[in-house]
Amino acid sequence: MLNPLQLTGKTILLTGASSGIGRETAILLSKLGTKVVLTARNVERLEHTLSLMEGNNHLVLPLDINNHSEVVQKIQEAVSKLGMLDGLVHCAGILQTMPLQFIDMPEITNLINTNLVAVISLIKAFRHKNIAKNPAFITIMGSVSALFGLAGLSVYSATKGALISLTKTMAVELAKYGIRVNAILPGFVDTEMTQGAAQSLMANEQKKKWEKAHLLGVGEAIDIANMVAFLAADTAKWITGSCLVVDGGFSVFKDV
Ligand code: NAP
Repeated sequence: MLNPLQLTGKTILLTGASSGIGRETAILLSKLGTKVVLTARNVERLEHTLSLMEGNNHLVLPLDINNHSEVVQKIQEAVSKLGMLDGLVHCAGILQTMPLQFIDMPEITNLINTNLVAVISLIKAFRHKNIAKNPAFITIMGSVSALFGLAGLSVYSATKGALISLTKTMAVELAKYGIRVNAILPGFVDTEMTQGAAQSLMANEQKKKWEKAHLLGVGEAIDIANMVAFLAADTAKWITGSCLVVDGGFSVFKDV
C-alpha cells in the first residue's frame, strides 16, 4: 500500500532529541523506518528517547551545539558510522520569557548563540563535502513568535525571526547541491520548555492567553513531529524555502 510518509532507508541527524518535540520526532521517524542520529547534551535522556524508538542502528551522539568544533567532529563521526545523511532536523533550542530590561547580557548572548549561531554552525557542518547526500534536506525549528510582538519574548523571538531569513537564504544557496531547507513555526506546544516557562508569574498569565488563542487547543509534540516527517519524505521534494506555520490556528485568530 502507498505510504506518502515512507522514510525507510533514510538517515537523519536530529538535534534536541532528549526532550519535547525532538524526542517525539525521533520516535515517529523511527516508526517510519528512519535511522536516527540522536543528539543533545544529556546522555541519560537521549538513552531514554532511544528506549522509546523502534528499529535498530540508531546512534546516540552527545553534542553541545554551542561547541562548533564538536559539531563538525560529531557530524563526521555520525557519517563514518551510519553513512552519508539524508537530512538534518534541528529541534534544539532554549526559551527565555522575561521583559528585556530584566535579561542580562550573558543570557542574551546565550540565547543568540544557542538559537541562532549554533544553527548556522550546524548547517555549515552539514554542507561539508561527503556529509549530505543529494538530494537531502534541512528542517529548522522556528517559532510562530517570530511573526508577532509577544511581550517577554524579545530576544527569543528575534532569534526565531532570524531563522526565517536563514531558511530562505540557505534554500537559495543550497538548492544547487540538492538540499531543501525549510522551517516549521510551531505555536504553543506542551513540552518541558513551555512547562518551565509557565513557572514565572508573567509567563503564567501569557500561557493562559496563548492557550485561549489556539483555536485547536495547545499543541502536542506529535503535531510538530508529523510536519517534520512530511518535510523529510520525498512527498515534499518540491518544497524549499518555506516557513510552515503549525499552530492550531493561533496566527489567524483575532479576539475582537
Ligand atoms: P525542550 O523540551 O526544552 O527541548 C529542547 C531541546 O534542546 C532538548 O533536547 C535540549 O537537550 C536541547 N538543547 C538545548 N540547548 C542545547 C545545547 N546547547 N546543545 C545541544 N542541545 C541543546 O523544548 P521543545 O519545546 O521540544 O522545543 C524544541 C524546539 O521547538 C525549540 O527550538 C523551540 O524553540 C521550538 N519551539 C517550541 C515551542 C513550544 O511551544 N514548545 C513553540 C515554538 C517553537 P539537552 O538539555 O539534553 O542538551
